[in-house]
Amino acid sequence: MKTIFEKSNGVCGVSVGDIEQLSESGISESFFREKGIGLPQLSELDVMRHYKELSDRNFCIEKGFYPLGSCTMKYNPKVNELLANLEGFNNLHPLQSDDDAQGALELMYNLQEKLKQITGMDAITLHPAAGAHGELTGMMIVKKYFEVKGESQRKKVIIPDSAHGTNPASAKMCGFEIVEVKSNEKGQVDIEALKNLLDDSVAAIMMTNPNTLGIFEENVIEISKLMHNNGSLLYYDGANFNAIMGWTNPALMEFDIVHINFHKTFSTPHGGGGPGAGPVGVKEYLKEFLPYPIVEKENNKYYRNYNIKHSIGKVRAFFGNFGVLVRAYAYILMMGDNLKLASADAVLNANYLKEKLKYNYELPYDYPCMHEFVLSGEKQHAQGVSTIGIAKRLMDSGYHPPTVYFPLIVHEAIMIEPTESESKEVLDNFADTMIKISEEIEKNPGEVLKSPKTTTVKKIDETLAARQPDLAFK
Ligand SMILES: *Cc1c(COP(=O)(O)O)cnc(C)c1O
Repeated sequence: MKTIFEKSNGVCGVSVGDIEQLSESGISESFFREKGIGLPQLSELDVMRHYKELSDRNFCIEKGFYPLGSCTMKYNPKVNELLANLEGFNNLHPLQSDDDAQGALELMYNLQEKLKQITGMDAITLHPAAGAHGELTGMMIVKKYFEVKGESQRKKVIIPDSAHGTNPASAKMCGFEIVEVKSNEKGQVDIEALKNLLDDSVAAIMMTNPNTLGIFEENVIEISKLMHNNGSLLYYDGANFNAIMGWTNPALMEFDIVHINFHKTFSTPHGGGGPGAGPVGVKEYLKEFLPYPIVEKENNKYYRNYNIKHSIGKVRAFFGNFGVLVRAYAYILMMGDNLKLASADAVLNANYLKEKLKYNYELPYDYPCMHEFVLSGEKQHAQGVSTIGIAKRLMDSGYHPPTVYFPLIVHEAIMIEPTESESKEVLDNFADTMIKISEEIEKNPGEVLKSPKTTTVKKIDETLAARQPDLAFK
């Protein structure tokens, strides 16, 4: 492994100048190193080739199909990168005065207005830097709301068993007790089970709709009414907004709070832990609880309003990742009414693939899906190759594997999200490959288990990699 990732041939690629001059720089000599720390040494050209070589080994959407369910690895228009890199945006400092930053504040204000339309909410905060961060912000708002209302006994948050793992984690971090509600045979929240959980200790429900099975909760309005009649709030996990844009929204479903993921739906590439944004929208009665500042407009001037009565405070030192906001705004303007078509295509593509694959792989919830669907590899598992083996085999055909073993309520889960940006040809080729793998497993599972053969790193010990990560150059 070292030979691939780590190199050093003793050639020095940089010159730090005269050591005497360093002494004149005013830095105290006590800070000087006495001996080198053994950093790798290579010429400039070798360094460049090394990184290019490493980047070629990465898989990315620019290289191929990336159907990672729930993660929305779609194509993001490159022009938005250009816009985010405009000097006026890129060189802005968060401590500049409002007067100095009118253009940026206008963009943020307009973006808030667009998000109000898209989500149906009454106010937006652009602070949270990720989906889970948005959830945390939302849960902090729920907590403060009930404190101010004098209902601090509401300590429970209900979460469906199909939920994304960040939901219980975020609620728990705010001190809530997590109560799970089961899904019924249609993969939706079991209403009777929900009714049994309701009393005055319940603060909120966190729901994803479409849920993580890619299925739209048909009884969502009934659920909203039940929760509101119980004096509880509804939180909408809108990470996968590309399923519904322009067709419906959380306000129409009577939710109180929502977060959306710019780094899934709104044109920021993700994966690898790069910057993202998870703006949160709330209904009018929760506006006074948002983190400060909020961008507002008065007499044609934009300003940061710090005066928010019951604000939960800051959730981030400054405004979120600004470049991500620029991309989202550009994307929303560029798409215009076509946002609706993007969602239609995302749903169409998912249903098309689902119908092609359901004869070779089990489809535990055989209903029309939204932007994604979940197969089960149980049949293949019984034939000797579990889902992870199918994922590895796909890599040999140049595909990024789908999400596997999530959601937890499906055994041997294979969660596929083709996204709106792929063509029929790509989907057909992927389906052919998946079908071919299922046939290979029937005939010769041992051969399938030999994959991946084409990748730099073959089968890895994931436990060891997580427990004892080897990250440093040595
Ligand atoms: C991705 C995702 C999240 C978390 O978003 P991050 O930005 O990764 O924190 C939450 N819920 C759902 C349904 C998601 O798909």
